[in-house]
Amino acid sequence: MAKWVYSFGNGKAEGRADMRNLLGGKGANLAEMSNLGLPVPPGFTITTEVCTTFYENDRKYPSELDDQVAAALKRIEEITGRKFGDPKTPLLVSVRSGARASMPGMMDTVLNLGLNDRTVEGLAAETGDPRFAYDSYRRFIQMYGDVVLGIDHHHFEDILEQHKTECGVTLDTELTAANLKALVAAYKKKVRDDLGRDFPTEVNEQLWGAVGAVFGSWMNQRAITYRRLHGIPEDWGTAVNVQAMVFGNMGDDCATGVAFTRDPSTGENVFYGEYLVNAQGEDVVAGIRTPQHLTIKGKQANKSKLPAMEETMPETFKQLLAIRDKLEAHYRDMQDIEFTVQRGKLYMLQTRNGKRTAAAALKIAVEMVRDGLIDESEAVRRIEPQALDQLLHPTLDPKAPRDRLARGLPASPGAASGTVVFSADEAEVLAAKGEAVILVRVETSPEDIHGMHAARGILTTRGGMTSHAAVVARGMGRPCVSGAGEIRIDYQAKTMSVRNRVLKAGEQLTLDGSTGEVFAGEVPTVQPELSGDFALLMTWADKFRQIGVWANAETPLDARTAKRFGAEGIGLSRTEHMFFDPQRITAVREMIMAEDVPGREKALAKLLPMQRQDFIELFSIMEGLPVTIRLLDPPLHEFLPHAEAEMQQIATETGKDLAAVRARAARLREVNPMLGHRGCRLAVTYPEIYEMQARAIFEAAIAVHKETGRQVVPEVMIPLITGRAELKLMQKLVEDVAKAVREETGADVEYRLGTMIELPRACLRAGEIAEIAEFFSFGTNDLTQTTYGLSRDDAGNFLDEYEKKKIIPRDPFVSIDEVGVGELMKIATERGRSTRPELKLGICGEHGGDPASVRFCAMIGLDYVSCSPYRVPIARLAAAQAALQVPEYAAAVTKGRAKRPSDDRHKRVLIAAGRRSAASRISGGVAHGRPQLAARSGMAVSPVTVAPKKVSTAKKARRAPPKTGPKKGPKGGGGKSRGRRKK
Ligand code: PEP
Ligand code: MG
Repeated sequence: MAKWVYSFGNGKAEGRADMRNLLGGKGANLAEMSNLGLPVPPGFTITTEVCTTFYENDRKYPSELDDQVAAALKRIEEITGRKFGDPKTPLLVSVRSGARASMPGMMDTVLNLGLNDRTVEGLAAETGDPRFAYDSYRRFIQMYGDVVLGIDHHHFEDILEQHKTECGVTLDTELTAANLKALVAAYKKKVRDDLGRDFPTEVNEQLWGAVGAVFGSWMNQRAITYRRLHGIPEDWGTAVNVQAMVFGNMGDDCATGVAFTRDPSTGENVFYGEYLVNAQGEDVVAGIRTPQHLTIKGKQANKSKLPAMEETMPETFKQLLAIRDKLEAHYRDMQDIEFTVQRGKLYMLQTRNGKRTAAAALKIAVEMVRDGLIDESEAVRRIEPQALDQLLHPTLDPKAPRDRLARGLPASPGAASGTVVFSADEAEVLAAKGEAVILVRVETSPEDIHGMHAARGILTTRGGMTSHAAVVARGMGRPCVSGAGEIRIDYQAKTMSVRNRVLKAGEQLTLDGSTGEVFAGEVPTVQPELSGDFALLMTWADKFRQIGVWANAETPLDARTAKRFGAEGIGLSRTEHMFFDPQRITAVREMIMAEDVPGREKALAKLLPMQRQDFIELFSIMEGLPVTIRLLDPPLHEFLPHAEAEMQQIATETGKDLAAVRARAARLREVNPMLGHRGCRLAVTYPEIYEMQARAIFEAAIAVHKETGRQVVPEVMIPLITGRAELKLMQKLVEDVAKAVREETGADVEYRLGTMIELPRACLRAGEIAEIAEFFSFGTNDLTQTTYGLSRDDAGNFLDEYEKKKIIPRDPFVSIDEVGVGELMKIATERGRSTRPELKLGICGEHGGDPASVRFCAMIGLDYVSCSPYRVPIARLAAAQAALQVPEYAAAVTKGRAKRPSDDRHKRVLIAAGRRSAASRISGGVAHGRPQLAARSGMAVSPVTVAPKKVSTAKKARRAPPKTGPKKGPKGGGGKSRGRRKK
C-alpha cells in the first residue's frame, strides 16, 4: 500500500531531513528535529505526492489517504492525551503547507483547527481562561473563513473594528471573553450570510477543508507568480503538515518568536531574532505589534527599550540557545527557526536553512570553512551566483550631500534611488518603461510580490526585520528599509509625509538598506570594494571551475572593471559603441553617406587614429590577456542621419547638397535592418571599413608592444557569418591589411582570426567555417533571435505572456533555450571541433553571465564565457558550481570532447594574469583534468576520443588537415600556428 502520510513527534519520526522532495522542507525538518530529540509538537505530513496525484486526478485524493490520516491523528491524540473534537480536552491542530523549496508567505495556513461551540467551552474550562479560548476561536473562524471558505479577511477585520468601537476599546487585547464570544457569533453570521450555510462545526470536515485549501493554494496566483519568479516547477507540489497546536497566547508566561542562528543581514555569528509575549505565531511575521529582541546585545544594538527574552525568560532562552547550537552543528548551515513558549515550555515549530543576504551568505560560508564545518567546495556550492549581484552594487557615496527624511530598520542592504510609487501595480508599470522605482507601502503582503520584484528598493512604515517586506526583499536582493514609523502614507492622496515634509508619487527617493535611512531626492553612489571574504570565495571558485570567464568590454572603464572582477580576457569588444561618440559620429556618417571608395576612405582616415587609440587603451589595460575585437556589426541604418540638422552637417562636411544627402539616406534606409546590411555583409560591400579597423588593431598592437615590451596577439572577430565563403573573403581582407602593416612597419604582426556564430546556418556549417576560424564565439543574442525568428528588440512586449502560459519555461534571451538554441550550439561545437580539435569556443551573448546558461556552456565543453563586467564574479561562481555538479559535468565531457583545450588555454591565461600558482594546478588535458572529475563522480572513464566523423574523400580534400602539414590555400600557414601569420 502506498504511504501517503508520515508521522513525527515524541522523539521520533518516520521521515528525515533528506526526504524534502516527498515531505516538503517544513515536513522533512520537523521530522529531523523530532529525530534529534528536540521538543516538537507531534504531527504528521501528507506528502507532496498526494498534491501531485490530487491534481492529476481531477482534484481527488488517493483512496487510502483517509485511513492513513485517521491513524496519524490518533497517534497525535495518544502522544498529547487529547482528542480531536472532544468537548473536554480538545486537540487543536495547525494545518500548514510546506513545499520542497521554501516559498515564504506564498501558501495558506490555518491555526486553531478543531474549535467549535463545544470544544471552545472545553478549552476555556481546561485552561481556566475563557478569553484565550474565545480569542483562539475567533482567530480560527477568521483564518478558516478566509483561506478555506474564501471570505476575504478584511471583512472579518471590519467586523472586529466595528466590534471594538461598540465595546469602547482600541486594542484587540482589551476585548473580554464575552466580547469575543459575541464577535464569534458575528463572524459566524457573516459566513452564513455570505455562503448561505453554517460555519462547519464538525472537526473532521474542518480538517479536510483545510487540507484541501492548502493543496488548492498551490495553484493560487501568488504561488504561481512566486514559482515563476524562482523557477520552481509546478509538478513539485506541496506537502501539508498537520500538527498539534501549542499556544503562545495563553498569558505572560507564553511567547512566540522567530530567530536566525546567525545575523541574516551581515552573517555575523550572533543569535538573532525577535519574539512577542502572549501572542500567536502569525503576529510576529505580520508586523502588527513591535517585536522584542531575543538577546540583550540585540536589544542594545537596536536601541530598543523593550526587554529581551534573555531577561524575561532566562531559562527558556538558555534552552533555545542550546537548540541553536545543536541545529547549526547538525545542519552545518545557518537556520531560520520558529518557536513557541507555552506556559514556560519551549516548542520548536520549524527550522530551515535561513534566507540571507549575499554578504551574509559569503561570511557564513567562509566562517564555516574556517570552523571546519564545511569544506571549500561546499562553500562554493552554497552561494547563489545571482545573489552576488547584491555585493556588486553601488552604495551611497559617503561624500555626497543628502537630505535625510527618516530612519527605519536596515532590512536588506544596498542603496537605491528611484521614483516613488505607492502600489505594486504602478511599480510594475513604470519599471516596464525602464524607470527606477521605489515601492513605498505601509507594509507588504504576498500580493505585492510583482511590484517588489519590479522595484529598485522597498520602503515600509510598519513591520520588523522579519516582516514580509524584509524577508522577501532580502531574498530578492532588493534594498529595503522597513518599519520607518515616522513616515505617514496617504494612499488616496498618493503622498508620504514626515513631520511637515510631504513627498508625492513621482518624486525621487533614496534608500540605504544597510543603515535603514531614507533620503529625499537622488543620492550618488560608489562602487563596492571586492576584497576579504569575497576575494577568498572567488579563489575557491577558480580552483574548481573548468571554464574561463571573460568579459564584454569596449571602454577603458569596462575593461578595468572587468579585470578587477577577475575577467581573464575580453571576449567581445563591440567596436560600434566606439563610433557613437559625438566627436566621431559625423565622420562615421560621412563614411556611410559616401557614394564612392575615395569618399569613404577620406572619412575612415579621420576615424583611424581614434580607433587605434581605443585599442591601445584596451591592450594596455588587459596586459597580455586575450582581447577579442569584433569588427563593425550593426546595420548601417543605425548610423544614418535622421534630423534635418544632421543631414545639413553631412552636406556641409562633404560639400554635397542637402537633397543628395537626403536621397542617399533614403536609399540606405532598411525595412528590416537587423536582418539586413549588417555584420560581415558591410565589409562585402564596403571592405574599407574593416580594412580601417584591422589596421587600427594591428597598429595598436605594435604600439603597445613597443611601449611595454609585451607582445599583443589580438583576436579579430568577424560578425554574422553564414558560411565558409564569407569568412574566406574576410580572412583575405584582414590578412592583406596585416601584410601591408608588416611591410610598412617591419613589425611582427600576429593575430588570430575567428568568428561569431550567431546564425543557425553558421551552426550547421560550422565544420567548414572552422577550416578558417581559429575560434568561435557564440552570439546567442542573435542566435536566439534567428533560431526563434523572434525580434530581440520587440519580444519583451509579449514573451511574458509566453512564460505565463507556459509556452516557454523562461525568457530565451535571458537563459539559453537549451533544447533549441543550445542544440544548435552543440552541433556547431561538435562540427567545429571535428574539423579543428583545438578550436577555441566561447560565448559572448548576454547568456554568458546567466548562471544556468554558464552551466550549459560548461556542459557542452566551451572554453570560456564572456559577459558584462559586473556579471564576471557571478559567472566565475556559476562555472565552479557547474564543475562541482560532477556526474553531469563528467558525462558531458565524456560525450562532447576529445580533449580539453581549455586547460592549455586556462593555463596560458593564468600565467599572463600573473597567477602562476593557479596555473601550476592545471596539469593539462586528459591526463589530469577529466579522470580527476571522473574519479570524483565515481565514473569509470577510459581515455576518450570523439569518434571522427566519417568524411568523404571529396570532402577531405576540401577540408584542411587540421593538425599536420601546412594548410594549402592562398595564405598558407597551417595547423596550430595558422593564426600566427608572420611575414
Ligand atoms: C550576440 O548576438 O549574441 C552578440 C553578442 O552580438 P550583439 O549583441 O552585439 O548583436
Ligand atoms: Mg550579434
